[in-house]
Amino acid sequence: MKKKILGVEFDDLSREEAARKGAELLAEDRFHYAVTPNPEFLLAVEHDPEFLSVLNGADLVLADGIGVVYSAKILGTPLKERVPGIEFAADMLACLNETGGRLYLLGAKPGVARKAGENILKQYPNITLCGTRDGYFKDEERVLLEVAAARPDLLFVCLGAPKQEKWMARWGKHTGARLAIGLGGCLDVFAGDVERAPESWRKLGLEWAYRLKKEPKRIGRMARLPLVLVKAAGQRLKNGKPEESSEWPES
Ligand code: UDP
Repeated sequence: MKKKILGVEFDDLSREEAARKGAELLAEDRFHYAVTPNPEFLLAVEHDPEFLSVLNGADLVLADGIGVVYSAKILGTPLKERVPGIEFAADMLACLNETGGRLYLLGAKPGVARKAGENILKQYPNITLCGTRDGYFKDEERVLLEVAAARPDLLFVCLGAPKQEKWMARWGKHTGARLAIGLGGCLDVFAGDVERAPESWRKLGLEWAYRLKKEPKRIGRMARLPLVLVKAAGQRLKNGKPEESSEWPES
């Protein structure tokens, strides 16, 4: 079931359900793409209609930030849980490992994708790493040709938003991949260059705070995030009822 949060239509799935759905997409012989919007996306779509339609055109839209989950609650359209992109990515790697499929890693600074690939292969030895490429390129079509030549089944696109989502929507179907996922800074984490918050922080919904502690320069970017909650509250007060909800039937 889809739930609309500030214009973006999220799939209301638990992590397990998302993994099952992802596995289905990966098994189907055509291109699909998945997106993992966080609160920054919800602010960005307001000024970028193309980004909004690319997100809503995805086969799977997962709530990657606690701010999305809070906004959903405020709007009266609660989501089952947060499904962090990195965890969905790990579930898809486990799935690909079972079939011995082909993985391509696109994005991050030079050298990072290769390092991430080496670490992934240690954990998922049946996967074939069919290619890696950094995310700092000008010629999108040339990169598409490189990816397509590698014949991936699963493709991680880690160029930051909205570049990665627009790249997938525009070029994805020509890559031959079955599933592409927009995953922001995940390759930096798989490479071991950026550390994820410990589980105790994550359980408290404080992954963002840990990230800020580790990378204080993100403060400018993160300072705007509470705006999402303000927007959600404003919308709830204005509408008086959710945008779409199983709890509040349309009259
Ligand atoms: N990136 C890239 N190409 C670009 C801009 C960014 O490959 O033109 C990479 C960047 O190196 C980082 C990732 O995209 O690995 C996105 O990082 P960000 O912190 O913006 O994403 P988040 O983790 O917040 O989703």
